[in-house]
Amino acid sequence: MDRNLIAEPTANQEVHIVDKQVFENKLRKLYHEGQENLEIITDFDWTFTKYKNNEARVCSTYQLLQNSVLTSEKSSYVHQLYDFYHPIEIDQTISPEVKEKHMKDWWEKCNHALLEEGFNKSDLVHFVNNSSLYFRFGLPEFLSKCKNQNIPITILSGGIGNLVETSLKQIQPENGMTIVSNFIDFDEAGRSKEFVMPEVRADKSKVLSGKRFRKNIILLGDLTSDVKMVQEVEYECCLKIGFLNNVEVYDINAFREVYDLLIVHDGDFTAVNSILNIVCKMEGVEVSEELREAYNRISCLN
Ligand SMILES: [Mg+2]
Repeated sequence: MDRNLIAEPTANQEVHIVDKQVFENKLRKLYHEGQENLEIITDFDWTFTKYKNNEARVCSTYQLLQNSVLTSEKSSYVHQLYDFYHPIEIDQTISPEVKEKHMKDWWEKCNHALLEEGFNKSDLVHFVNNSSLYFRFGLPEFLSKCKNQNIPITILSGGIGNLVETSLKQIQPENGMTIVSNFIDFDEAGRSKEFVMPEVRADKSKVLSGKRFRKNIILLGDLTSDVKMVQEVEYECCLKIGFLNNVEVYDINAFREVYDLLIVHDGDFTAVNSILNIVCKMEGVEVSEELREAYNRISCLN
């Protein structure tokens, strides 16, 4: 049986508008140009999904696959790799080129371990149901609104595309989203065969280069580096919404520098849905308290 994959609303979340003027100008443009000019570009792990659910960490799609597939022996090997490569990953003194080489080696060794163990395509739903993955409250509403209003969604994820797809299908069977991620190919018998290249890793700045998007974008992410998703994308206006999941781990000032709106303390999709309601001019527009003032100003300045 499929389990519930949606977390409860986040009671203590905070919504911060970083610069009132900038935020309102962007929202006003989105409002006046409407949903037909809007497109969503989003991260997946800990953006669509929660960071924690009832105090327990929610897995990323990569962790989900490792936890589901690896034997304890392989699992301890992967932990050893982490102990070796993670210090390199966060070491500020190592040059980007050297670091990139190490990160590639790490990635390949982990992928090799996964494929050596192997799994069937038909196992994926079971893996999701047995994992600690939870989507944020309000995400299903967000996806249906986008679908009903013909707003395209592109998910750019350094995780596992097959699991992004499988888990989303469980909450929105006909979603038609574009998933740009790392996909595993299966053989005719449905057995895992290989990772399809090119891979999407931490640096997302070039992945969408050359692709065409509508002129207005809402970007969603949970890391400051996620804003790089649009670095090589042409657009007129990009409203950037950041989920700041843990204020003890991530620097709020760094988030304030790159995002227009922060959803703090592992929040839910209520504020994002409000923004969509405003842009789509939904009947009897529902707007959360934090955005009410901005909305009143925008809507009366028709
Ligand atoms: Mg993420």
